[in-house]
Amino acid sequence: MSKMIMGAQGEWEIVIGMEVHAQVLSVSKLFSGAATAFGAEPNAQVSFVDAGMPGMLPVINKFCVEQAVRTGLGLKAQVNRSSVFDRKNYFYPDLPSGYQISQYKNPIVGEGEVYIDLAGGETVRVGIERLHLEQDAGKSLHDQHPDQSYVDLNRSGIALMEIVTKPDMRSSEEAAAFLRKLRAIVRYLGTCDGNMDEGSMRADVNVSVRKPGGPLGTRCEIKNVNSMRFIAQAVEFEARRQVDLIESGGTVRQETRLFDSKLGETRPMRSKEEAHDYRYFPDPDLLPLELEQAWIDTIAASLPELPDEKKARFMRDLGLSAYDAGVLVTERELADYFEDLARGIDAKSAVNWLNNEILGRLNRDGRTIADCPVTAHANNTILKMIADRTISGKIAKDVLDIVWSEGGDPADVVRARGLVQMTDTSAIEKAIDAVIAANPDKVEEVKAKPKLAGWFVGQVMKQTGGKANPQVVNALLKTRLELPEEG
Ligand code: ADP
Ligand code: MG
Repeated sequence: MSKMIMGAQGEWEIVIGMEVHAQVLSVSKLFSGAATAFGAEPNAQVSFVDAGMPGMLPVINKFCVEQAVRTGLGLKAQVNRSSVFDRKNYFYPDLPSGYQISQYKNPIVGEGEVYIDLAGGETVRVGIERLHLEQDAGKSLHDQHPDQSYVDLNRSGIALMEIVTKPDMRSSEEAAAFLRKLRAIVRYLGTCDGNMDEGSMRADVNVSVRKPGGPLGTRCEIKNVNSMRFIAQAVEFEARRQVDLIESGGTVRQETRLFDSKLGETRPMRSKEEAHDYRYFPDPDLLPLELEQAWIDTIAASLPELPDEKKARFMRDLGLSAYDAGVLVTERELADYFEDLARGIDAKSAVNWLNNEILGRLNRDGRTIADCPVTAHANNTILKMIADRTISGKIAKDVLDIVWSEGGDPADVVRARGLVQMTDTSAIEKAIDAVIAANPDKVEEVKAKPKLAGWFVGQVMKQTGGKANPQVVNALLKTRLELPEEG
């Protein structure tokens, strides 16, 4: 798939860099003890610090710092042992202190990297420029009253990690894949819930276009795009707009734009000339943040296996394809479920069972793997019963259906309902005889056309309530009907 877009004057390359705000998964705020629960009554979770009351002092939340370090390590990034909190000054009704505490010149985390897998099998490296900690602002509500605006400070002071990439992405697909991967990483780490609907993860998308291999073009920044689909749409629209503008003799002005998801287009919000001068300076209320290497090492030692490593292990140890392994590791819950399911089982049959039977049923019921009604262990039991020929593949699906709706242990279900596979040849032969006796015309047909043997297999399976071993049925039928070996 070409990443270029076609203009009237030839091909153009899209260049994308992202700034992602990820809310730290913490029950209290970055510099106060106020709660962070989503959906609380407006202004119910606001301390004097969050309300910008004069003389109130911020106190750093060690847990939030730890989550930033954890995330940095997960992004294979440089963790800076010394970093500084700065005041970013601007006036806004939902910013009562008149400044946001952020990190400017000395962020807590420096350069790192994320690898993304594209649909065609290509892997792309996206450089991480930095990660810094900052406070969220409050929220102005303009739709609550006909002629008044309200302010909700519940979000004021919540810890955000701003993760900035290098301009390394080249298509809307890469941009969406990057955000998906970043989301997977923070969810594996447990440092952010990645919930875009609740605003726990928001992306500012920088887009420019250039002649392939040429110098970077002027970028526009699209603010607060809050779904994977919108990111792709915003990039496509914006790149096309810039190409059309340049090709018709205009120049792209550096500006901040908004994405209108209803119209599928971006609109100017403010130009570079109108951009704020934030007058950053180190916050005199906060000392520089100094981290001990031993503490960083402890955090590093507690990191879970991350998607890339898990994928590599699934490919190496279980012989899975890059595609299968890649799909399994997108969610930690899915990967964990798979591992329990596949224990002692051929990995490929476990993947097929998961994809066809379990994910299919979950999809049908509108559930996720986290609330799957049948445990991985129970499914493992079913697969083991197929493998040791206690039950047929067909019966296995029935057993899953039963356990899915009624609960219980699959082995008990098989025993109690007499679903054990028939391998006793005399019983199967009896069923074959019955089918042959009842269908003399078909016997003539199958002798002329051995391909019709499948019909007999089906009938015998029906006779035995699906319990006959299909291989045995096949073999016996061939002898009984005197069919050639390769029929
Ligand atoms: P600023 O300091 O003005 O915020 P940065 O250099 O920090 O600018 O870049 C902000 C974001 O914009 C980064 O994600 C970066 O990758 C991206 N970016 C920078 N230049 C370009 C460009 N020419 N095209 C697309 N994205 C860009
Ligand atoms: Mg910047």
